[in-house]
Amino acid sequence: MSALKYCQGPKCHTYDTKDRKKGPKDNKRNETRRRSSMYYGKGNFCSLGCYNDWAEVFSDRAIDHFGRITQPKVLTADNAWRKSYDWNSSSNGHNNYAHYVYNHLTNERIPLTEDQYNNDSTIIDDQGRLTTRLFYTPTI
Ligand SMILES: [Zn+2]
Repeated sequence: MSALKYCQGPKCHTYDTKDRKKGPKDNKRNETRRRSSMYYGKGNFCSLGCYNDWAEVFSDRAIDHFGRITQPKVLTADNAWRKSYDWNSSSNGHNNYAHYVYNHLTNERIPLTEDQYNNDSTIIDDQGRLTTRLFYTPTI
């Protein structure tokens, strides 16, 4: 069971929908939406509109706080690795997958097992760098 939380949209309460209406007939008001789960902005916003409202008000302050990009970030052969796979259907009805890591600047490919593709999140770091070239053990 997850706790109810409020949408973080600064104008959420200003959108006139039935579910935002609270209070008795003579004292109606609209309130910020409150839900156990929301789908936008890592679960902080009830709608894309509320997410955009937050960005309009707070983006500059958040970026200045956490670090504004002032130089281009660069993709080189060193950090251009991604996991990928090819799929082929064969005439016998079996589907064949070929898993690999792929450098999309040099076009180098290193084969992976399906298990490595699905379960090993350490092969490529969060910056797209290959952590080792010794991970592939062919299973002839
Ligand atoms: Zn909202």
